[in-house]
Amino acid sequence: MNTQAIKNLRQIPLKGKRVFLRLDLNLPLHDDGSISDDTRLRAALPTLNYLSEQGATVAIASHLGRPKGRDPKQSLKPVATRLAEVIKRPVAFVDDCVGDAVTRKVAALGQGEFVVLENTRFHPQEEKNDPAFSAKLAAGYDVYINDAFGTLHRAHASTAGMAAHFSSRGMGLLVEQELKALSPLLQQPKTPFVMILGGAKVSDKLGIVRNLLPRVQRLLIGGGMAFTFLKANGIEIGASLCDDSKLGTVREVIAEAARLKVQLVLPVDFRIPTADGKAKVVETLKPGDKGLDIGPRSAKLFCEALQGAATLFWNGPLGLFEQEPFMAGTLEVARAVADCKGHTVIGGGDTLAAFTQLGLADRLTHASTGGGATLELLEGRDLPGLAALL
Ligand code: ADP
Ligand code: MG
Repeated sequence: MNTQAIKNLRQIPLKGKRVFLRLDLNLPLHDDGSISDDTRLRAALPTLNYLSEQGATVAIASHLGRPKGRDPKQSLKPVATRLAEVIKRPVAFVDDCVGDAVTRKVAALGQGEFVVLENTRFHPQEEKNDPAFSAKLAAGYDVYINDAFGTLHRAHASTAGMAAHFSSRGMGLLVEQELKALSPLLQQPKTPFVMILGGAKVSDKLGIVRNLLPRVQRLLIGGGMAFTFLKANGIEIGASLCDDSKLGTVREVIAEAARLKVQLVLPVDFRIPTADGKAKVVETLKPGDKGLDIGPRSAKLFCEALQGAATLFWNGPLGLFEQEPFMAGTLEVARAVADCKGHTVIGGGDTLAAFTQLGLADRLTHASTGGGATLELLEGRDLPGLAALL
């Protein structure tokens, strides 16, 4: 897909225009409904500030969670309140995303002002990408801007369907920045290109392995997904995570890596839980042992293998980092990545959470705000949210 052909904000006249702005304000909430992390909201600020400076009138739309119809627990109202706090200005809210009340609210806004619309997923037509609903969403605006990077892989009404109703449409500054950081991984990456993959499910990551294997020089695999690779190599993995249905595909990947002379680095030691809730390092797993992190020898191997990387991409923690005893492997490798001088990019919600928790996120070239969208882009797939802007 030729994303160069998509307009960005700066190429679109905005003064006095009514703008429909799709953001990804699907913020994680605590059990009591309060916001636990507003990173995605902060990532939208450059676009919001720019629109305001340019004198646009802005209606902000997003989904939140997976509501089945209207659900006050998944309202965007607290997000509107948080936005007002962050930008230190009033932000209006309207309890729907379509209809007369919205039209009236938008008409009443002054230049540079914002209204947050209610959760688009309160309407089941949103996820069905229903054409009549798309038309309703689009009614009354002059410009459509999509800056919801994290939902570009969804073909929903507010992320894709409604774009066709606008001749004036484009991407926001976050999407532009994400594409700028991620496209070098797909197009002529500087070598050596090192890819680190982890996380729980090997099936989530095979698409990206396939697409990037011909471009990388070194592939480091940790986390739960490593055990399917180890088992494919005939190594005892005990009771560790494994997807037996993918053993055949993984064997093909291992053979392909060898054919392409990609250096494949797999863990050689592990941390397993002990009876008193701590971690113990082992070199071999016995039946019943559960590898929940890579061990120190493996971390050292990984750190050595990423030395001198000109391009580096990492998705998926190397262990069960949510539990302190199993964070060490991710921590050690994250430090080496933070020190790396090349183009360093991470993606994935948990990976970003781990880097943020370790205070290392701002030592990277780019921390992608997308999970599924980042992976699908790097799998070489067309993202519906981008295709709709062409
Ligand atoms: P991301 O959100 O960055 O894309 P994933 O969702 O793919 O990452 O994987 C993150 C999850 O994988 C985390 O919940 C982490 O605890 C889990 N995980 C990593 N290593 C292991 C392991 N060895 N055993 C079980 N779970 C693991
Ligand atoms: Mg995840």
